[in-house]
Amino acid sequence: MSGDPTTQELESFRGQVRDWLAHNAPKPPRFKLPDSFMEVGTDEQFNYLRDWQQRAYQAGYIGMSWPKAYGGGGLPQVFQHVVNSEMARARVPFMVNLIGLFWAGPTILKLGTEEQKKRYVPKILSAEEIWCQGFSEPENGSDLANAQMTALREGDEYVLNGTKIWTSLGAYAHHMILLARTDKSGPTKYHGLSFFLAPMRVPRVETTPIRKMTGEHGFTETRFDDARVPASCLLGEVGQGWSVALTTLAFERGAEGGQAGGLAMVPLQVSQVVELAKQVQRDGRPAIEDPIVRDQLVRFAMEERGLELSQYRMRKPTLTQPRPFAVPMMSKLVMSELRRRLCAFAVSLQGEAGQLYVGDPDAHADGNWQRGYMNAFSATIGGGTSQIQMNILGERVLGLAKG
Ligand SMILES: Cc1cc2nc3c(=O)[nH]c(=O)nc-3n(C[C@H](O)[C@H](O)[C@H](O)COP(=O)(O)OP(=O)(O)OC[C@H]3O[C@@H](n4cnc5c(N)ncnc54)[C@H](O)[C@@H]3O)c2cc1C
Repeated sequence: MSGDPTTQELESFRGQVRDWLAHNAPKPPRFKLPDSFMEVGTDEQFNYLRDWQQRAYQAGYIGMSWPKAYGGGGLPQVFQHVVNSEMARARVPFMVNLIGLFWAGPTILKLGTEEQKKRYVPKILSAEEIWCQGFSEPENGSDLANAQMTALREGDEYVLNGTKIWTSLGAYAHHMILLARTDKSGPTKYHGLSFFLAPMRVPRVETTPIRKMTGEHGFTETRFDDARVPASCLLGEVGQGWSVALTTLAFERGAEGGQAGGLAMVPLQVSQVVELAKQVQRDGRPAIEDPIVRDQLVRFAMEERGLELSQYRMRKPTLTQPRPFAVPMMSKLVMSELRRRLCAFAVSLQGEAGQLYVGDPDAHADGNWQRGYMNAFSATIGGGTSQIQMNILGERVLGLAKG
């Protein structure tokens, strides 16, 4: 398609997507789905979600704006926005290869060689190859530039040594985007880092599942013990890893657009909490009749609407001047914290029953709100904690002094 689509074309496209979803949305599984890509812990969850991504991709609804040469649809991004919003409306599951679709893929498209784009991008879209991210280390999370893992060049290979931790999808991934130190003599911690598209399924890479407070698994500790990876998996120049990582983080934190699309987590809407408030009792009457509950629900609904409108505003350059990145940069912070507070409120609405958990026959909705509450912390920590996001907003958007 050449030029921007008309409103009529977009509305007709929206109708097609809605129709497709009505016929093709996956049937609810007999097991519990993870709340996000950070909680995929069993083979049946993984296979179900991978099958869903594959079907959405084959239908042309993932990677719509990515170049055709690498498996994308070559269309204006606005088509992907339509698909994403219809997927949220239909409450279909999220895309399992999210790290590939949302940040590894866009980074490769922006900074990779032609060979790397052809090698990796099509299989990210089709979910044939799953990606994970190796940024955090046992001693360095927020302080990412302090990565201690080493990569030494030997002929056509690099030899990796070190440990990455909290690796979401680590048990299923074929590749990991990772930062490693290729030179320790630089003047600052930002020098001497390099960025790799490292294969995971090579000898001497070991993943150990980590159990979460929900009792489920979703991430791993990943050890590299003299693991050899081809030198061709270096992304960007040797020693320039920090600037590549900043590009990845811009995609991850929403400061830059161009992600392949689909949902990032199981959608949660205020209307679901309103339904809950109709079902549970407070002082012998439905909680929804309590004025304090109603007041809080209205506040949540206003926040939700504000976020929705911000999504539209982000796409209109004239509405985001003079700080074009301000709204996208605050999205992760605001969305993840809203989700956490919504889940906390949903648990509190249940009164004493709020302490019952999944599997308890008396738990409301099989304890899904309780599980959701615990999982809601994931997005407030992964990808940079809320405190770090606030620092970034303070420094880069509001121009405050560096803390
Ligand atoms: C569910 C989940 C999935 C994850 N998946 C991945 C993954 O796939 N790949 C990956 O690499 N990592 C992943 N992580 C790790 C995540 O990125 C880190 O946990 C996060 O960056 C924080 O690092 P840390 O745990 O070392 O905490 P620390 O950096 O030690 O922080 C501890 C506390 O201090 C605060 N703090 C630290 N520095 C500052 C500062 N400068 N100003 C103000 N407050 C500060 C933090 O906000 C936090 O509250 C995941 C984490 C979770 C919870």
